[in-house]
Amino acid sequence: MKKSVLRKYAQLAVKAGINIQKGQDVIIVAGVDQEDLVVCLVEECYKNKANSVEVRWQSDRCTKVAYKKASVKSLSYVPEWRIEKEKEINRRLPCLIYVESSDPDALKGVNQSKLAQVHKNIAPIFKPFREERENKYQWLVIGAPSKAWAKKVFPELSPKQAVNKLWEAILKTSHADNDDPIAAWTKHDNDLKKRSTYLSSLNLDYLHYESSNGTNFKVWLIENSKFIAGGENTLGSNIYFNPNIPTEECFTSPISGKAEGIVYSTKPLSYQGELIEDFSIRFKDGKAVEVHAKKGEELLKHMISMDEGACKLGEVALVPYDSPINNTGILFFNTLYDENAACHLALGLGFNNTLIGFEKMTKEEIRKKGINDSSIHVDFMIGSKDLNITGYTRDGKVVPIFKNGNWAF
Ligand code: ZN
Repeated sequence: MKKSVLRKYAQLAVKAGINIQKGQDVIIVAGVDQEDLVVCLVEECYKNKANSVEVRWQSDRCTKVAYKKASVKSLSYVPEWRIEKEKEINRRLPCLIYVESSDPDALKGVNQSKLAQVHKNIAPIFKPFREERENKYQWLVIGAPSKAWAKKVFPELSPKQAVNKLWEAILKTSHADNDDPIAAWTKHDNDLKKRSTYLSSLNLDYLHYESSNGTNFKVWLIENSKFIAGGENTLGSNIYFNPNIPTEECFTSPISGKAEGIVYSTKPLSYQGELIEDFSIRFKDGKAVEVHAKKGEELLKHMISMDEGACKLGEVALVPYDSPINNTGILFFNTLYDENAACHLALGLGFNNTLIGFEKMTKEEIRKKGINDSSIHVDFMIGSKDLNITGYTRDGKVVPIFKNGNWAF
C-alpha cells in the first residue's frame, strides 16, 4: 500500500483512535508482516509527543509451531518478568494499539483441547491485572491484511491482488480512504451516538429477536444500564478515544443468566485460529445449553465450557443489515469487521461501563447487577436480512427496534 495512504490510516488510528496525549507510552501489537504500517504508527505516535513506543511483534507461524511442539506445561509457563510487566503497565497505563492481520485458519490442525487447557491455565493469572486497568486506558483495534488473510477472503485472486483488495475494503469501511479521515470518522461517530442515546432512553426490559432462519430469542437487559457506540472516555483521565475502527454497533451488556430461545449464526466465526460455521445455540436460563455446528462443533463446545461464564452472554449488539461493511459484500473472517456487518451477541465477559455508575461499584456489586464474568469474550453474528427485533420497555411499551434487518427508527 502507498506510504501516503498508510500515513493517513496511521493518523486516524493515533489521533481519532487512541487520541494520544503528550508524554504517554504506547504499545503496538502487530504481525511481523505489518512493518510498513507499524513504521507509520510509530512515527505518528512520536510526532504527537509519545514518551515511548514499544512494538510487540507476533507471528502466527511461531505460535503454531509452539502449539505443535511444546508441552502444555511449557506453553502455560509465565516468567516472573511478565508479571512485573503487567504491574508496570497498570502503573503507567500505556495506550494499546492492536493491529489485526492474522490468517483466520492460522492454528488449523492444532489440538483444540491443548489450546483450551493452556488458555485455562494462563487466563486466571492475567485476569486481575486486566480488570485493574479496565476502562482506565486508551486502546484500539484496527486491521491490516496479511497475505494469508487476504487469500482467505479472496481465494480467486493472486496474493498481491488479494492484499490490495482487502486494503481497499479496510480503508473504505474505516472512513480512511478520503481526504480527511478524521473528520469523516468524527461525523460517523456522532451519528452512532444519536442511535445509542435513543436506545438508552427507552429503558428496555427485554428484546425479542425473530428471523425466518429459525432465530427466536429473548434477552433481558439490566436496569440502569446504557447502550454504547463509537468512542468513549477513560476513567480518571477522561480522555475520549475510539476503541474500534471501524465500528457500526450499538451495544450493551445483558443480564447474565436471563435469555431464552434459539439463535442461528449468519456468518462463520473465527475462534482460536479455526472456523466454526453454520451453528445454532439454544439458551435456557441465560445459559447456552445446546449447540450444533456443521463445522467446528467440538471447538464451539470447548468454547462454551472454558469457564463458568463462557456459556452466558456478555454483549448484545445491534448493527443494521445495510451497514457499510455488510454492503461491501465481503466476508472478512475477522470479528472486527464481521461483527460490524451484522447484529451479534457475545459469549463471555460483559462490559462494566454499560452500567450507569459502575465506577462507584465494587466488582461484586457489578456482577450482582448482571454483568457476566469470564476469561473469554467471543462475538458471533446473528443478523439477517429479515431479522425483526422488538423492544419491551419497563413501563409496558412495545417499540420496534429492527424491521427487516435494519433500524426501525
Ligand atoms: Zn460487539
